[in-house]
Amino acid sequence: MTNPVMLQHGKTKSAIRELFEYGLRQAAIVGKENVYDYSLGNPSVPAPAEIADTIRELMSMEPLALHGYTPASGAKEAREAVAADLRRRTGDDIGPENLFFTCGAAPALISVMRALAVEGAEILLLAPYFSEYPVFASTNGLKPVVVPADTSDFQLHADQVEPYITPSTQAVIVNSPNNPSGVVYNRKALEELGALLTRKSAEIGHPIYIIADEPYRELTYDGEDAPYIPAIYPNTVICYSYSKSLSMPGERIGYVCVPNCAADSAELYAAVAGAARSLGHVCAPSLMQRVISLSTKLRPDIASYDRNRMRLYMELSDMGYRCVKPRGAFYMLVEAPDGDSEGFSEKAKELNLLLVPADGFGCPGFVRLSTCVSYDMILRSLPAFRKLMASYQK
Ligand code: PLP
Repeated sequence: MTNPVMLQHGKTKSAIRELFEYGLRQAAIVGKENVYDYSLGNPSVPAPAEIADTIRELMSMEPLALHGYTPASGAKEAREAVAADLRRRTGDDIGPENLFFTCGAAPALISVMRALAVEGAEILLLAPYFSEYPVFASTNGLKPVVVPADTSDFQLHADQVEPYITPSTQAVIVNSPNNPSGVVYNRKALEELGALLTRKSAEIGHPIYIIADEPYRELTYDGEDAPYIPAIYPNTVICYSYSKSLSMPGERIGYVCVPNCAADSAELYAAVAGAARSLGHVCAPSLMQRVISLSTKLRPDIASYDRNRMRLYMELSDMGYRCVKPRGAFYMLVEAPDGDSEGFSEKAKELNLLLVPADGFGCPGFVRLSTCVSYDMILRSLPAFRKLMASYQK
C-alpha cells in the first residue's frame, strides 16, 4: 500500500507541466517554430560565462576535497563568502552561522516550514502565490491559509491580510519579486505588513515569521529594488536560490538565511538544520557551493528579460488585453477577457499559444505567461494573440 496523499501528488501533473508536455507533442506535428510556449519558468539567459570558467578552474582541485561531503550547513568558506556579500549589500550582521546551504529554494522553503510546524500551525499564502506552496505546506505540517489577491494592483495590502491571522498563524510567505505576477512589493506595503505582524505577534503571544522567498531578488526593472525585509520586520527568514539569478536551476543550489534579528534566531536555525536532516539533506552539491563562493559579485544580465517584458506588455495591452505590468521576475499575468481562465487557456491552445491558467497560483480569471522565452518567439506569437482577442470580440 502507498500513502494516498503522496500517490495523489505524484500522479497529478501541474498545469504548467501538462502544457509544456503538450507543447512538445504539438511541436512534433506543426513544427517547433509554430508553437508559442509561455509555460515554463526556465531561464532563457545563459549562466554568466564566469560560471563555466570557475567550474573549469575548480576541476584542477584535489578531487577528494572537491567532491567530498561538506558540513550539512555548507562549507565554512562558502558560507563566509556569501555572508560577506550579504553584509556588503544589506548592512546586516550576517555571518556563516546564519546561512544554511540547500539544494535550491524549494528545499529551503520546506525546511523552514517544517521547522515552524508546531501542532495546528497555519501559514498564510498571499495570492497570487507560487503554485507549489500549498503542497509544500500541507505535506510538511502546516495548514495553508490563502489571502486572496487584490487584482486591482496585485500589491500586498496589510489590512487585507489581517482577517486571516489567527492564534495558530506561524508564518507568512512573502514572494517578491513575485511569481506569477512580476509585482515587486513596495517598502510602504512591507512596512504596513511588518507593523501588523508586530501587533498580532504581541496579541497572540508568539512571533509570526515572514518567510521571504526570494529567488528573483536581483531580477527587477524600471529602477525598482526589492527591499531587504529583515530591516523592515526582524522576524524574517530568507530562502534564496541561484536558479534564476544565475540561470542555474538544474544545479540545485540556494540557502536559508536566519538573521540574528529574527526571534529565537539560533534555535530556529537549529530547527531548520533538523528539518533538513529529516528530509534526507546531507549537504548541498559541494562543487556548486564552491562555484557560488567564487561568484558572489556576479549579477544577472536582465536586458533581454526586460526587452521581452516590455514588448509583450505593450503589444498585448495595445490589443486590448488587461495585463499586470511586471516590475520584476520573468512572468506576467493577463486577464481572461471573459473571466474564464481555463477556457481562455484552451482557446489559446488551439492557436498553439501555451498560457497557464493562474487558478493554481490562487488567481482565477488570469493566465500566467513566462516571459523568459526567445524574443523571436514573442514576435512570431503576436498574430496568434491578435486572433485570440478577435475571437472574444465577435
Ligand atoms: N519559489 C518561487 C517563487 C519560484 O518561482 C521557484 C521556482 O520556480 C522556487 C521557489 C523554487 O526554486 P528552486 O528551483 O531554486 O528550488
